[in-house]
Amino acid sequence: PPQCVAATRFAPSPNGRLHIGHAFSAMCAHDFARAFGGKFLLRIEDIDGTRSRKEHIDAIIEDMEWLGLKHDGPVIFQSQRVARYKEALDLLQARGLVYRCWCTRSDIAEALKHKPVRHGPDGPVYPGTCRGKTEGEGDYCWRLDMERALSLTGPFGWTDLVAGPQIADPALFGDVVLWRKDAPASYHLAATLDDAADGISHVVRGMDLFAYTAIHRLLQILLDLPEPTYWHHPLLLDEDGNKLAKSRLSQPLSEIRAKGISGIELVGELRQGKLPLGIGVSTS
Ligand code: GLU
Repeated sequence: PPQCVAATRFAPSPNGRLHIGHAFSAMCAHDFARAFGGKFLLRIEDIDGTRSRKEHIDAIIEDMEWLGLKHDGPVIFQSQRVARYKEALDLLQARGLVYRCWCTRSDIAEALKHKPVRHGPDGPVYPGTCRGKTEGEGDYCWRLDMERALSLTGPFGWTDLVAGPQIADPALFGDVVLWRKDAPASYHLAATLDDAADGISHVVRGMDLFAYTAIHRLLQILLDLPEPTYWHHPLLLDEDGNKLAKSRLSQPLSEIRAKGISGIELVGELRQGKLPLGIGVSTS
């Protein structure tokens, strides 16, 4: 059998229908794996029980078939891996790297009125109210003690196939949530653990997630996980240069399918060693 040299994944959250931007992302990950004789996995990021819907999962699987993107192995569901995420959280807890946070949104807003607000890529950074607290009222989430984590790792970086070597600066995000109040593991923890568990060699995903890779690389170091290579592909924009989310092109693939359009294909070629930067999408 041909040697498997790459493994990629498409990891949609079933909170809504896929649109052409998702299709593009799935195609990039799929074509990348195929070009290198590798595996392409489909992972449904359905840990958020309040937002995930069975009908969206079914539609994603139908969309993937319609797109002609065959994944290897069974579909992976994050909802079935919660025990694994909890183990990792316990490890971090045993090392004093996470703390409980009882703050509500309004507690945080209030605290930010009295402290200088630092803005990170995701908005105002959590002011650390619960760091060092051992008791509180009501539900809590778990946050990473960023300062302590970085004191253990020292400086580090990661590599993007196109953007090149990056210096990671996860401190920009402050004490990120690793375990949520309303759902198990956060995206950061679950996705990082899964990429390692599934042997993902190349994380192919959109540019919108570029900044988060610093957090994922930090978790890999803390949890002694292998380091994948990343390729953050460009985002599809509409004719006016706007993100698809707000344009007519963001109509669900299921609606395009229903119009009898036979498929979507990437225009351009993904060849060994050549990344599909000039790719366009045509519907046929
Ligand atoms: N589930 C994430 C999303 O739909 C993607 C995660 C990833 O590719 O790392 O935005």
